[in-house]
Amino acid sequence: MIEQAVAPVPTGAPTAEPILRLRDLRVTFDTVGGPARAVRGVSLDVFPGEAVAVVGESGSGKSVTMLATLGLLRGAAVSGSATYRGTELIGLAPSRLRHVRGAKISMVFQDPMTSLNPVLTVGRQLDMVMRAHNPDMSKKATRARAVDLLDQVAIAQAARRCDAYPHELSGGMRQRVMIAMAIANEPEVLIADEPTTALDVTVQAQIMDLLGRLQRERQLSLVLITHDLGVVAGAADRLAVMYAGKLVEHGTVPSVFAEPGHPYTRGLLACLPRLDRRGEMQAAIPGIPPSPLSLPPGCPFAPRCPDAVTACTEHEPVLVRTATSTIACSVHAPAAVVR
Ligand code: ADP
Ligand code: MG
Repeated sequence: MIEQAVAPVPTGAPTAEPILRLRDLRVTFDTVGGPARAVRGVSLDVFPGEAVAVVGESGSGKSVTMLATLGLLRGAAVSGSATYRGTELIGLAPSRLRHVRGAKISMVFQDPMTSLNPVLTVGRQLDMVMRAHNPDMSKKATRARAVDLLDQVAIAQAARRCDAYPHELSGGMRQRVMIAMAIANEPEVLIADEPTTALDVTVQAQIMDLLGRLQRERQLSLVLITHDLGVVAGAADRLAVMYAGKLVEHGTVPSVFAEPGHPYTRGLLACLPRLDRRGEMQAAIPGIPPSPLSLPPGCPFAPRCPDAVTACTEHEPVLVRTATSTIACSVHAPAAVVR
């Protein structure tokens, strides 16, 4: 049965209160080419202890959504709501936001080399992260905890590595250091933005294993941002697919993988390399995503969509709940007619 999704609570979501709650979040950049509507009304819940993957091609608005949530965007018009345990983060005073960021919610980025300070040792950077939120901690205490944290992220010879500079470590090890910094203040939510994109395939798997282990052991809420659906299967409970600044599908990972509802999700899944089809040409969704400066009328995916009909270019679809997930597609989940 298809019904109008009135409440934006994701299909298959646990019943607890969300720890992170986005409602109609919008981000517009003022650019020389005009307003760039990078995020156009995202509503998403993240519940305690769950892993949510936010997936979509490059430019779909995944990073900007999370950066806006944490107040890390300059020069952008942000509207809508993003609450952490009921506290509104949008428009929150910088001093109060800093209290949340890095302590309650922390973030791991794609490129650990640009996020680490090249002239400070790993131990010193861990010390700074801890003391930013616990100024009374002694040097001795932060040092002991730094070694323990490096141990927890499976860095061998943690005491010695504490005195290393970032350039003395491999890419994978630098990402482990970033993860150690992100968990140093025992956050409840970890946002990992393309955490393995800059790494070799074997190291990617190790970092995903590490994130999964930390998430389970610490009952962290994990928001995993990725353009690669391939890393999602073992790593996330729920999946939110973004296209052109909006969610186009969300649901549990098993149901969306078994029965993707939106043609865009189907396209992304069809691009995944499969062991049973090794050697075959890998499919790619034809065409490219639209620019947020010039979105096509109607459904922004329509120009690339194999299932598009005329109506798709006339009205932008809204999210509608189906038997397996929630999708925004006029063809596969027509909204109830509003008179
Ligand atoms: P994703 O993380 O999904 O790859 P982003 O969230 O980084 O995509 O970007 C979404 C859109 O916003 C892109 O079209 C990008 O070019 C645009 N964008 C991001 N940052 C800025 C900025 N500072 N100024 C103008 N446009 C931006
Ligand atoms: Mg990004």
